[in-house]
Amino acid sequence: MTIKTKYPRGINLLQDPYLNKGTAFTEAERKALGLQGLLPPRVSSQQQQVQHILNNFHRKPNSLEKYLYLIGLQDRNEQLFYKTLMDNLEELSPIVYTPTVGLACQEYSRIFRRPRGMFITKKDRGHIRQILSNWPHRHVRIIVVTDGERILGLGDLGANGMGIPVGKLSLYTACAGIEPTSCLPVMIDVGTDNKSLWSDPQYIGLPEARMRGDAYDEIIDEFMKAANEVFPNVMIQHEDFGNQNAFRLLAQYRDQYCMFNDDIQGTAGIALAGIYSALRKISGKITDQRLVFLGAGEAALGIGHLAVRAMTEQGLSEKEARGRCWFVDSKGLVVAARTDLAQHKRPFAHDFSRHRDLLSVINAIEPTILIGASGQPKTFSPEILQAMARLNERPIIFALSNPTSQSECTAQDAYRFTDGRAVFASGSPFPPVTLNGRTFLPGQANNVYVFPGVGLGVTASESKRVTDEMFAAAARCVEEKVMKEDFAQGRIFPSLSRIREVSLHIAIAVAKIAYNGKLTAMAEPSDLPGFIRSKMYDPVYHSYLPAKNKNNEVGR
Ligand code: NAD
Repeated sequence: MTIKTKYPRGINLLQDPYLNKGTAFTEAERKALGLQGLLPPRVSSQQQQVQHILNNFHRKPNSLEKYLYLIGLQDRNEQLFYKTLMDNLEELSPIVYTPTVGLACQEYSRIFRRPRGMFITKKDRGHIRQILSNWPHRHVRIIVVTDGERILGLGDLGANGMGIPVGKLSLYTACAGIEPTSCLPVMIDVGTDNKSLWSDPQYIGLPEARMRGDAYDEIIDEFMKAANEVFPNVMIQHEDFGNQNAFRLLAQYRDQYCMFNDDIQGTAGIALAGIYSALRKISGKITDQRLVFLGAGEAALGIGHLAVRAMTEQGLSEKEARGRCWFVDSKGLVVAARTDLAQHKRPFAHDFSRHRDLLSVINAIEPTILIGASGQPKTFSPEILQAMARLNERPIIFALSNPTSQSECTAQDAYRFTDGRAVFASGSPFPPVTLNGRTFLPGQANNVYVFPGVGLGVTASESKRVTDEMFAAAARCVEEKVMKEDFAQGRIFPSLSRIREVSLHIAIAVAKIAYNGKLTAMAEPSDLPGFIRSKMYDPVYHSYLPAKNKNNEVGR
């Protein structure tokens, strides 16, 4: 019996990763959809398939092989990929994203198999609109775009940075239920200043120096405009741009398009969530804190600006709040007397004496919170950690640099040199630490708690802008979802297994900001949580057989 459906049939159905269910096609579906003989006879449930995937996954010898196995699955059967990822997020997200994605990017030219996302090069100037129209899906709602200049803490990886938008968009789907076909990863290849790539015959990108200046700005501008024309209502996430471009592009586009920069704003959201949560744990107030940041780049300054916003919400003046945030860059403490400061550091350049090294800064400022976002490993030395422990009963210490090898200190050191008193979080995951018979569970200040929920709220409400207020609200939402049981286990972030609940909570708050701020033409639905929940993709297989109707057709 053949049945008229909107689905492709036979081998075309099996080769469509969005629809393929592999061995889970039922006998009836196999008969009706021309699949008989194309699959081995035994029918599996989706749950059995997930178990089979996990068994194979565990047999892979290293994390890069595990990454390749999962990407291969995504290319074959997207629903099974997401079902496996969602049900096992704590174990699989470090493979799909940090830290393994860093390794995958370093190897990207060698492991590239089939396109997942679009490559636009400087040679495409004048044609970007046309090129974006080649993408097979018309209803793209979220684009993550990078130019590969500052991949994690690994520097300029050129076109190999494509692994980042691909990974981030998988997390949008897994953590907030954004439809896979609504997601578009984009790499804008303007060359690379990583000369080792130029001489690599396998390098997949343009082996030449980075385009800079007006020509660079023009290609980004053309892309932003074209993306909005081809995909109306799209939200564009800027990711891993070098900081001389990141701040400028954010300032230029944030009031023109629906866009944000995750390295600046998303990081700020999760770090502020971590601060709120740590302060709840130790009964502190944000307005009493003094923050010292090692690093004065995208992550650190983004956190600083959002922390100022949080303090002013609690009654401090902006000047007082800024006076509580101090930055150390590669040349020392950021102070007004310095003449070498980039514009984006100026708002935090206080009138103060010059200090070159972090220890003397700590002794002079006496911070309650120390945050590392410098990309420099082991910079939180035992002396620094001991100084924080001397100054504070419960020092808050976040070592955010990624991947693990770049972290300012290990979790082990953070607990060891503060006698177990530190409230610690890191950018990349660390295993639990046991010290004097006590076990500590280090928090991971993972942006994944924030950007998927913000994206869901923005796209569901059709907000025309992404605002700092949304990230501040997201920080509160994440903190609100940290339970007593999390604290009891030593966590300052919710368990990743509850991420969809966290994302929904954020999305509701973000959508409310859009409606209240008239950032959308849409009216607020009467049941906002129900409305947003209804937008969340669920990778559970459904039957492709028609519910009987008069034309014997099924919808896609
Ligand atoms: P960036 O390049 O914009 O900034 C790096 C900053 O570090 C610069 O201000 C630089 O001057 C400073 N720096 C370099 N060497 C230094 C030294 N020896 N001492 C003091 N400062 C030094 O990079 P970014 O986007 O801000 O990212 C920084 C790090 O934070 C990266 O490793 C990144 O992976 C990590 N990060 C973590 C998270 C997270 O945990 N959620 C999010 C974003 C970024």
